[in-house]
This record gives sequence, C-alpha cells and structure tokens, in this order.
Amino acid sequence: MTPCSNRSRKVERWPKLSMIGCLPCGRAMRVLVIEDEARITEILQEALSRAGFVIDSARRCAEARDALSVTVYDAAILDLGLPDGDGLDLLAELQSSRNRIPVLVLTARDAVRDRVSGLDAGADDYLVKPFATAEVVSRIKALLRRPGGALGVTLQAGNVSFDTIGRDVRVGVTALPLPRREGAILEHLMRRLGRVVPKTVLEERLYSSDDVLESNAIPVHVHHLRRKLEAAGATAEIHTVRGVGYLLTERRD
Ligand code: CA
Repeated sequence: MTPCSNRSRKVERWPKLSMIGCLPCGRAMRVLVIEDEARITEILQEALSRAGFVIDSARRCAEARDALSVTVYDAAILDLGLPDGDGLDLLAELQSSRNRIPVLVLTARDAVRDRVSGLDAGADDYLVKPFATAEVVSRIKALLRRPGGALGVTLQAGNVSFDTIGRDVRVGVTALPLPRREGAILEHLMRRLGRVVPKTVLEERLYSSDDVLESNAIPVHVHHLRRKLEAAGATAEIHTVRGVGYLLTERRD
C-alpha cells in the first residue's frame, strides 16, 4: 500500500446551498467527498446537495486529512484509488479516530477480495462504480440513520436525553423546550460528551442555519442553554474552556 505523501492544502468547498432535507434542527449535514475524478465529484455534489447536504470535496489523501482536521463531517464518501495514496489507509485512520464518521466506499475495484478488505478496514457501506446517484444518496441517508450516525439516535448525558429525530430534549422525564440553535449546540456537546468542542466548530455547525453569525452568538446561546439546564435540574453541565470552546460533563451527585 502506498502511503499518502504529497501535501496539498487546497480543499474545495462547494457553495452553501438550500436546506431542503437537512437535519430537523435546520443544520445541513456535511459530507466530505474524497474522489479524484472531477466528473464523479460533480455528479455526487449535484445529487447530494439536491438532497440537502453540504458537500466539501478533496481530490487527494492529503486534502482529505486537512479537511478532516478542521471540519466535523457527518459522513464521508471515499474513493479507494487516489493519486497520492490508497483510500484504505485513510479508511483505517478514520476508523481509529475519536470522532468516527460513517464512510461509504465508492470504487471501481469490484473484486470480491477488495470488497472484503474495504469492509474489514471499517467501511460502513460499499458501492462499486458505475453507480446510480440515487443509490448513493439513499445509502448515505441510511448510514446517517444508524446508531452513532447524525440521524436517528437518542443521546444521553446525565439525566438529559435528546431525541435527535423528534428534537425532543428531556431532563429526567420533563420536556425542556429549546430554541433551534440552543438545541443544535446541546446536540453537538452531547455527541462529544467529555471532550472540548471548539467554539469555531460550533460556529461552523450554526453557519448553515445562520445567514449572519455575530461574534458573540455562540457564547450568548451557551449562556441561555446553561441557565435552562441548571434551572431544570440537569446533571449535565456545560463548562467554558477559555479561549477554546465548551465541554459538557456529567455531574456525579
Ligand atoms: Ca480514483
């Protein structure tokens, strides 16, 4: 296997698109397409953005690593034959990373042997080229609905639960209605319970649902959210990590 070596900083970011079919919180799901054939990327971008996804694309392993290091994605579509290395190496890295995301492998390699090695390396699903774009979209949606995916999971932190389909937040058995953006922040902190979430990442998450993001928007939302959680008797607390971001922890009483 050739290690990915060439460095390239350029990551193509497609323009922000309309929010049809996005998460119930109003945030579009972000998918990284790692594919060196421009025409295929274009076809995927068109189909996925029509389905409400925001797409970033990377043509090389190095670009993909750069993108993954600065942006939180909900899923990735990965071609195995990349110019600067083997997609299977990237797959292994994604598999071992802390914020594991579902990966749909898309490749021309159709030998059974390759399918097996791709799936063994941690691919959540596998499609062989040529493919039908509708199939890619439906497979990505299916991956996001799996436990741990961006859709279809109930999150829990202390006595706080968050049904990500119904957007229903509860403290114990009592419903805690939250405005959309506070809900989105809580969801993100709950998905990364016990880990610091940079403020810039939260801004990125709200960016898709905000035309104008004021510099103090996140601190203000967090302030309100924290007060509401405290007032409701939540045993999950938001901590501010000065200059970095926020951290949700469970309080042990
Ligand atoms: Ca390729």
